[in-house]
Amino acid sequence: MERREVAGLLAYMGRLDPRTMRSDQHELRDQIEQWHELLGEVPLATAYGWDARDAIRAHVLSSPYPILPVDIARKWTKHSSDRLARHTDPTPAADPDDPHAWRAELLGTRHAVAAGQRPPHESRALTSDNPHPDLAARLRAIGSVIPPAIRAELSRYRPARAAREAAAVEGRPDPLSVRCEWCKAPEGEPCRARRTDLDGGARGNARRATPHPSRLDLATAALNRQEYAA
Ligand SMILES: [Zn+2]
Repeated sequence: MERREVAGLLAYMGRLDPRTMRSDQHELRDQIEQWHELLGEVPLATAYGWDARDAIRAHVLSSPYPILPVDIARKWTKHSSDRLARHTDPTPAADPDDPHAWRAELLGTRHAVAAGQRPPHESRALTSDNPHPDLAARLRAIGSVIPPAIRAELSRYRPARAAREAAAVEGRPDPLSVRCEWCKAPEGEPCRARRTDLDGGARGNARRATPHPSRLDLATAALNRQEYAA
């Protein structure tokens, strides 16, 4: 904040909370000096959601005590760290073989985000529609965004998926590759244990750990047809 911005802020504060108003010129100058010394690093407002006047207004509405510079500094620190927490370092445009320029650009971007000069870069590179060409090639090579070792670790928590993958590897029929004619579970979805009450309303719709036997028969028939055709 510039000195004249501090003066404007103090005038605004005086209107909302007359106790903080200084009528004596010397006292007013001291107050401006003190606030400027303490809040020199805090911007008055940024284009991305920070305004020190909002902090003052919120304080006056929520606290019976006169606002102190530390109240504003604390709010700014929180605002700034919240933004940094949402920030993912974008890949610098600098030459990756020049570590100094690379690092300087990374830090510069972070500082700009923390200072409220630019919005946080919220990266969704892996899940967006257009992965980087290098990444797409690597994905094709690995076949999945989940590396095989991690996939094996996860299989304990995804029994249905693990069973399908094991079936595919061993050439056994995969029941989930066909629709279940018994419970009408669509292709890829596990069977449901539907229970109905006496009036025909649904009482339960839990996923079954194992598919209905008739679905396995359908999948076996489908697999045999495929092998016969091949
Ligand atoms: Zn079923």
